[in-house]
Amino acid sequence: MTISKRCLSLSPTLGSLHPSMTLGITSKAKAMIADGRDVANMCAGEPDFDTPRHIKEAAAKALDAGDTKYTPVAGRPELREAVAAKFSNENGLHCSAQQIVVSPGAKFSVFATVAVLCGPGDEVILPKPYWLSYAEMVLAAGATPVFMDTALADGFCLDPAALEEKVTERTKLLVLNTPSNPAGGVYRRSVLEAIAELAVRHDFMVLADEIYEKLVYESDFPHVSIGSLGPEIEARTITVNGFSKAYSMTGWRLGYLAAPEPLAKAIAALQSHSTSNAVSFAQAGALAALTGAQEPVEEMRQAFAKRRDEICRLLHAIPGMNVFVPRGAFYVFPDISAFGLDSMTFAERSLEEANVAVIPGKPFGMDTNIRLSYACSSDTIQKACGRLAEFCGTLR
Ligand code: PMP
Ligand code: GLU
Repeated sequence: MTISKRCLSLSPTLGSLHPSMTLGITSKAKAMIADGRDVANMCAGEPDFDTPRHIKEAAAKALDAGDTKYTPVAGRPELREAVAAKFSNENGLHCSAQQIVVSPGAKFSVFATVAVLCGPGDEVILPKPYWLSYAEMVLAAGATPVFMDTALADGFCLDPAALEEKVTERTKLLVLNTPSNPAGGVYRRSVLEAIAELAVRHDFMVLADEIYEKLVYESDFPHVSIGSLGPEIEARTITVNGFSKAYSMTGWRLGYLAAPEPLAKAIAALQSHSTSNAVSFAQAGALAALTGAQEPVEEMRQAFAKRRDEICRLLHAIPGMNVFVPRGAFYVFPDISAFGLDSMTFAERSLEEANVAVIPGKPFGMDTNIRLSYACSSDTIQKACGRLAEFCGTLR
């Protein structure tokens, strides 16, 4: 008997997601390189450094000692304490360990937050360009994404007056990402204060994704956590962070958040029925990351700062390429509209014709731009920019 359409029909929410294009194109580029093709891979959403040794040793020791069983769903008590201490000492939050949930990746921290807070009828404001997974997560929850433009002149940060125009009675959540993927925008304290005032006055929640917090490059633009700006905004903020970017631990799958306690409980309940705890011995590594030497983080930041300067200088020299110098994270997001191609076509052709793998801006909400990651060697940066210069020359 043939299987019916009804059996195979997918849920309109969770069954209808698009696969992540960042992960998809990155694996395609890696596979091409493994096949022997000389591709300059500018896709990577992960640092190219190894995880610092003391973190690996702590996890290996835990594994050796038999730390291989379930842990409490929201993470081991000592790790939740260390995360709460980090948020208090470094970010100015006032949270207890009960407000912390450790998850298998910050992606799941964001997903779980959106899933427990938002549903049909709720609006979630996403400033463009946004990290592509936010929009899919909002759709997965059955809520409505409300996109808003940002300007290059504002460093790709939202303008509070424009935000107020987007707020309705249905606004449930604003997703703020600082420093941002893909544009490298970093929010100033004064702008965050204005956003916090709006969130409190109009009574909506803010999800602050601060996973790139350690990677900022300009003293005028230090990282500021919106949740630190007063008790009323802290009560409306979920602060998400993780180990992937700061400690180069993307494969370990470790993220965490601080939320008002009832929300943290709801997120832990969702986690208890979906992923359960983050990997037991990885949590030992996470504890070592937070409590051990921080020098490797600063060394990596300095290396990224140099590469940022190099890639921006080389891209600026390509006629028609309009480059905003990112203030944080490890991506550049130039406007390529002068070349007369949409971002998908540009990315496809730059891979096929110039052997440069980039991510199109379209899934980030901006079809006029492409994303290049500078989490790669200086040689790769030079090779990619040289090839792009030649490729762009053929388009003009
Ligand atoms: N937020 C942003 C903005 C990101 O770029 C990423 C990248 N992976 C994440 C969250 C999730 O990180 P992870 O799941 O590896 O902790
Ligand atoms: N966040 C990274 C990126 O945007 C890694 C891939 C992903 O998780 O989407 O490339």
